[in-house]
Amino acid sequence: GLEAEGASGPRSVGVSGPGSEAVSGACSEGASGSDAVHEPRSEGASGRAATFGVVDPATGERLALVADAGPADAIRALDAAEAVQESWAATAPRVRSEILHRAYELMVQRTDELARLATLEMGRPLAESRAEVAYAAEFLRWFAEEAVRIGGDYRVAPGGDFRIVTTRQPVGPCYLITPWNFPLAMLTRKIGPALAAGCTVILKPAEATPLCGLALAALLAEAGVPDGVVNVLPTADPARLTDALLGDGRLRKLSFTGSTGVGVRLLEQSARHVLRVSMELGGNAPFLVFDDADVDAAIEGAMLAKMRNMGQSCVAANRFIVHEAVAERFTAGLRARFAALRVGPGLDPESQVGPLIDEAARTKVASLVSDAADKGATIEVGGSALDRPGFFYAPTVVTGVPEDASLTSEEIFGPVAAIATYPDEASMLTAANATTAGLVAFAYTRDVNRAMRVGEALQTGMVGLNRGLVSNPAAPFGGVKHSGLGREGGEEGITEYLELKYLALQT
Ligand code: NAD
Repeated sequence: GLEAEGASGPRSVGVSGPGSEAVSGACSEGASGSDAVHEPRSEGASGRAATFGVVDPATGERLALVADAGPADAIRALDAAEAVQESWAATAPRVRSEILHRAYELMVQRTDELARLATLEMGRPLAESRAEVAYAAEFLRWFAEEAVRIGGDYRVAPGGDFRIVTTRQPVGPCYLITPWNFPLAMLTRKIGPALAAGCTVILKPAEATPLCGLALAALLAEAGVPDGVVNVLPTADPARLTDALLGDGRLRKLSFTGSTGVGVRLLEQSARHVLRVSMELGGNAPFLVFDDADVDAAIEGAMLAKMRNMGQSCVAANRFIVHEAVAERFTAGLRARFAALRVGPGLDPESQVGPLIDEAARTKVASLVSDAADKGATIEVGGSALDRPGFFYAPTVVTGVPEDASLTSEEIFGPVAAIATYPDEASMLTAANATTAGLVAFAYTRDVNRAMRVGEALQTGMVGLNRGLVSNPAAPFGGVKHSGLGREGGEEGITEYLELKYLALQT
């Protein structure tokens, strides 16, 4: 390792991590039947780091124990990242590109293994986890290709007396915080462009899904990422670890994906050292079905936009805003599709819908549905938790959802489709934009003029037109309003990790 290797220092296995047991990572444990997620911190007593548990949401049982990084580990990781920042930035773009390309190939080769790990940690059906591995790997391939295309510019000053030369340089050590809902893709969407740009990183995976983060770190090391360039810090206490990093002036950037509440707090903290920030925050996506829509295509798109990840996606359709002329057909179709879904553990190949991430998530979904029902909405199908181990909630369709229901104003993050009907395009657009969120919107119409008009009027960073899925490594992903700052993916993704520098050359 390039970082100091004191007795209690981070162990470097190509990619460094916290504590003595840390990166070798999850010491696997038999299922204990315990719901307890966090072990008491036991730093010092045995000379071992504290640990915390990872729970299988399909059973509620513990899968593994993972080393719990604390503020001291965070500072050691930053020491390591800072120590190699210059050499990593000076590594030839082609070499950085080839390392990323090898990591892409390793991910594809290990699809089954990684998909199984993702399903174990966060619950979704294996087929969906395989799709996430493919999607996650594509970010590494895309940014491997971008690494060799970082350009500059040469201009003549208007007076002709000097030249304006621009170049792009890596921002410096970056802190990456990721959520549990896409435990691989949210990581590669940040690590890919950061490494391509020549930045070193400290990654803090979500508490629920550290195993995917550790597996990815090991894979990156195998692909040839030098020691200290990627540092992974699983922790049960994200605020404590984050305070230490954001309080250290050597850090140059924060890239966060998660809830808007936490994002706002991190923005405030980042102001202290004027950090560069990228924020991918919560959504509240409207899904508009106009009277001229291909209703069957809209139902197909709705299944994808609502049910992928059991509805636990920032781009999940949160409010179905349907023209009254097609509402009956759309609702009947969606109800039939939801009723036919097979719910069960993600490892069972028969399952089409897995559990929610934890009991708190299930309780929140249940309370949103009962609030809507109390306010006059009709539960068409589902509407209850499943009576079995794990955190399962039945796929649910709710109609007649009033605008004052929390189901409309909050991010549901569960398998619940909330439908409301409207008489015309204007009222549908007003409803769609009546939210502080602005990540994505979906609209179904056969009229290309309407598609463009509505696409421009929707106050979101992304719009799916006759399409229920917008995410792609080649596209700039991101939101407006309270949904975030900056873009991930596309040509734009790498610029978040580059500073533009201008050299004035006397001629
Ligand atoms: P969360 O905000 O609770 O957690 C996200 C990450 O932040 C985790 O790693 C967590 O450990 C960390 N965190 C929590 N509190 C922190 C603190 N005080 N200081 C530092 N770090 C802290 O969100 P979640 O429940 O894990 O994820 C769901 C949310 O993420 C939803 O709102 C969803 O819309 C959003 N999301 C957004 C995108 C996007 O690209 N816009 C993608 C996926 C998820």
